[in-house]
Amino acid sequence: MPRPLKASIHLSAIRHNLALARRYAPASRVLAVIKANGYGHGMLRAALALRDADALAVLSLDEAATLRAAGVSKSIVLLEGLFNAADIPAVVENRVACVVHRPDQVEWLCHAVVDQPVAVWLKINSGMNRLGFPPAVVAAIVARLRQSAAVGHLLLMTHLATADESRGVAWQLDVFRQATAAFVAPTSLANSAALLRYPQTHADWVRPGIMLYGVSPFAEESAVQIGLRPAMTLHSEVIAVQRVSTGESVGYGEGCRVTRPTRVGIVACGYADGYPRHAPSGTPILVNGARTGLLGRVSMDMLAVDLTDLPAAAVGSPVVLWGEGLPVEDVARAAGTIGYELLCALAPRVPIADVE
Ligand SMILES: *Cc1c(COP(=O)(O)O)cnc(C)c1O
Repeated sequence: MPRPLKASIHLSAIRHNLALARRYAPASRVLAVIKANGYGHGMLRAALALRDADALAVLSLDEAATLRAAGVSKSIVLLEGLFNAADIPAVVENRVACVVHRPDQVEWLCHAVVDQPVAVWLKINSGMNRLGFPPAVVAAIVARLRQSAAVGHLLLMTHLATADESRGVAWQLDVFRQATAAFVAPTSLANSAALLRYPQTHADWVRPGIMLYGVSPFAEESAVQIGLRPAMTLHSEVIAVQRVSTGESVGYGEGCRVTRPTRVGIVACGYADGYPRHAPSGTPILVNGARTGLLGRVSMDMLAVDLTDLPAAAVGSPVVLWGEGLPVEDVARAAGTIGYELLCALAPRVPIADVE
């Protein structure tokens, strides 16, 4: 018997979530974001499940080459663009579009001799202050790129910092519109939060990531309320049961002394599998389909759950760490992080099973 911990990836959920993105933004094309190993789901698996997307976004040329080698033929965009002028031949060979966000990337492209022009997503910093050109220089950069024989299709993009928060998008939308008003070029602004909440950001291309994996980008609105289906279920089993008397502790340290006679289930899942070590006692966990809570510190390979109120639970009982029946957002909230981080942190040692 293999260790019972597995991540099941529900391919039909990914397809459903993409279809939902299209219903929200029916006039836009979809650049599906599959960076960070498809948010932990497996980049290639995500790419294949997202075959109805118009294009795919990754970070590295290696990822793009892996997609091409696997037969993916649609457009691929490198979200941080070129890291080195020497990568241009591979960019051309793999027909990869590049975000261009800093002056040396412009110069590398403008000096390149290529047989196929490179499509460019020109990134404008509209207020997030992470990547992109300030609005004041956009006209000069567009002119420079348009003169270059190495640059093909040109698109203008920005990234929104507070689409999931009360500050919203208007403050950045105004900056972006002013910076791009003079140009005839397609545009792209929306991440998942903007796609779901702000139709005025949809433009020519939307760029959903987290929603495709069935996770809400909002703190106060759940995936179920939005109509999303979780794509990853991390599940395991109870591998041991202990009876612990009042005042005794569970696991490493003495932090968790139980205050009643407690039945403790030991679950095959630990921080080396990607479960957050800083999750506190009480973090929700499903055993036999019923919600109970984590007890004590998460170990490398195991964690403990309270089975006192689940008398039928025993060795072999199924456990869901997150996914179907237990939103990863709920686990993330208890652990002081976001669902994005938990999904991306799934460890390579966890076997993944495709489920239709
Ligand atoms: C990661 C990323 C996205 C997707 O964001 P989500 O919040 O996961 O939808 C979109 N655009 C850019 C530039 C990104 O880096």
